Amino acid sequence: MATQKLTIVVPAFNEEEVLTDSVQKLLAIEEKIAQTNVLSQRADVLIVDDGSRDHTWPIIEKLHRTNSRVRGIRFSRNFGHQFALIAGIQEAVKTADMIVTIDADLQDDPTKIAEMVAKYAEGADIVYGVRNNRDTDSWFKRTTAQGYYKLLGLLGVHLVPNHADFRLMSKRAAETLLTYPERNVFIRGLIPKLGFTTDAVYYKRTPRMAGESKYPLKKMLAFAWDGITSLTIAPVRLILLLGTLSCLLAVGMVVYAVVMKLLGLTVHGWSSLMVSLWFVGGVQMISLGVIGEYIGKLMTEVKQRPRYTIQTILN
Ligand code: UDP
Ligand code: MG
Repeated sequence: MATQKLTIVVPAFNEEEVLTDSVQKLLAIEEKIAQTNVLSQRADVLIVDDGSRDHTWPIIEKLHRTNSRVRGIRFSRNFGHQFALIAGIQEAVKTADMIVTIDADLQDDPTKIAEMVAKYAEGADIVYGVRNNRDTDSWFKRTTAQGYYKLLGLLGVHLVPNHADFRLMSKRAAETLLTYPERNVFIRGLIPKLGFTTDAVYYKRTPRMAGESKYPLKKMLAFAWDGITSLTIAPVRLILLLGTLSCLLAVGMVVYAVVMKLLGLTVHGWSSLMVSLWFVGGVQMISLGVIGEYIGKLMTEVKQRPRYTIQTILN
């Protein structure tokens, strides 16, 4: 194979508890891969500090000083996991032939990177890291995640099941991903749209080594909602369907009322009136809310603001 270089992109937000250990592990894995001759150039690790408020950045600087194969990007503030990944990929693609993205807590088995590289060598442009099971998730996370992916499927968005953001991308796949200019990014929803040859490696996800999840419920909900509204307009279509059904129901009610009147049965109807009033009012408000969400998304896209701002790069 011609010159082939791997860059491992690691997004990090307040990861002082795990970062040093994680990078040492990744470097050890890199060392092993280097001995297999699949890569003709040594790999490097590019950490993207997503506006951490702890010692994440000083740790990155220190790691960089002791090993030039560790590089760093520092955001000017917290822009979110997905943008940290995009920024890392954008920087990595300048020199790398393949890019692996992995979370800083190494919950996704980093020893599988070698297998990913091997699949790349066999011709895959995208290698998905797929979890064998969800044992290590809490009951809440597991059921909500499964329900969510089912819902996405019903709305016509098909993702790779049990795959998050642990994957390998070839240079051309990464470059294609970067041509998607959207500000509302849900990377795992875009990857299947790229095409190219894909493959997968399977692994068991382990619990976080230290520290807490950087995805509290609020961030998770926002992410899930962005996933739906940035990948499909099915909810807006659903409103149309709901409105149509509601109108048909109203026609039925008119027929019913006329029949009752002809039969001389007085309809007191207070409760039914109130129920339908509130129900239809609610449906309208939800509908407006959903439409508003899409208009809001349009607004952020139209503004074309930068997706993130880099403060410092260590190369
Ligand atoms: N992360 C980030 N920005 C954020 C939140 C998280 O870059 O605003 C990073 C975090 O440092 C980690 C990855 O995204 O490398 C996944 O976060 P975490 O492991 O906390 O999520 P979980 O595994 O609990 O879903
Ligand atoms: Mg994690």
